[in-house]
Amino acid sequence: MAVNGSPELLIVMGAGATADQTEHVLARLQEAGVSARVQRGREATVIGAIGDRELLATLPLEGYPGVEQVLPILKPYKLVAREVAPDPTVIEVDGRKIGQDFFGLIAGPCSVEYREQTLEAARAVAAAGATMLRGGAFKPRTSPYTFQGLGDDALAILREAREETGLPVVTELMDPRHVEAVLESADVIQIGARNSQNFLLLAEVGRADKPVLLKRGLSSSVEELLMAAEYVAKEGNERIILCERGIKTFETSTRYTLDLGAVAVLKQETHLPVIVDPSHAAGKRELVLPLARAAAAVGADGIIVETHPRPEEALSDGPQQIPSAEFGAFAREVEGIVALMGKQIG
Ligand code: PEP
Ligand code: MN
Repeated sequence: MAVNGSPELLIVMGAGATADQTEHVLARLQEAGVSARVQRGREATVIGAIGDRELLATLPLEGYPGVEQVLPILKPYKLVAREVAPDPTVIEVDGRKIGQDFFGLIAGPCSVEYREQTLEAARAVAAAGATMLRGGAFKPRTSPYTFQGLGDDALAILREAREETGLPVVTELMDPRHVEAVLESADVIQIGARNSQNFLLLAEVGRADKPVLLKRGLSSSVEELLMAAEYVAKEGNERIILCERGIKTFETSTRYTLDLGAVAVLKQETHLPVIVDPSHAAGKRELVLPLARAAAAVGADGIIVETHPRPEEALSDGPQQIPSAEFGAFAREVEGIVALMGKQIG
């Protein structure tokens, strides 16, 4: 459902409100020409009223039976704001879950390079009990002279890896012209850090019927990330996983500065799941495990990690990729913290 206008008011139905009372509120809103979106949670039902704030102010919403509270949404992000959903969002892909009690362990090579390389990595990732496979087909490289990804050939390899391992696949979309091909092959569409504020691309995936993994821009604030997610949600696709992957700061000892504080803030500000990419933040494989543990401990809903059967031969991001032979041990270490947080790998 594309949203015309943003939700301006939240109508919270009381715990004892009946379905008829909710329907009554919705009917009154409809009569007044106000569109609404209903979220039924475990404990409460929340109605987001979308439309002109002045018109909404003329409706005696507080007096309707079953209504407990009417609250204005003051944040610039509306659909992704914590308040509009009674429960945290869980993204389900092929029976695998990310969010709430489920920690997503997403892993795979930085780039799909050739068939055996990706299949070997995928087997190790599957054997470790991961949630999804990652692998870049279209690569956003800083230099135009470095490996740019295999494109469509990589998508075919990813389909084969999914077929063999049963793992859902996440891969990056860089160009709206590739959307059909990527949608055919991917279970989750990744929007990379460099396209985090490519608003036309965001709207494009907002019209897609697949979940979106949205990375934080290299220099985006938390609010800018949430507004980017709002672009996707506004087009009707609210299946969004946010990803903190490190930001540019004065610090040079890591590739980027992993902003774990932002993860804690995001968990307060949005109902969407938030995952962490320790690989791109670290830039060095020795740092990936401690950052992954910290991500799980700060309350992230998952991690996305790079692993390669032979990192020393990798065509991109070799220094940060975990050798696939070590990926099982890595996953067990992270799982220890995941269990402490009362979660399980989704
Ligand atoms: C990636 O995950 O392949 C990638 C390029 O990451 P980022 O967009 O965060 O740099
Ligand atoms: Mn990479």
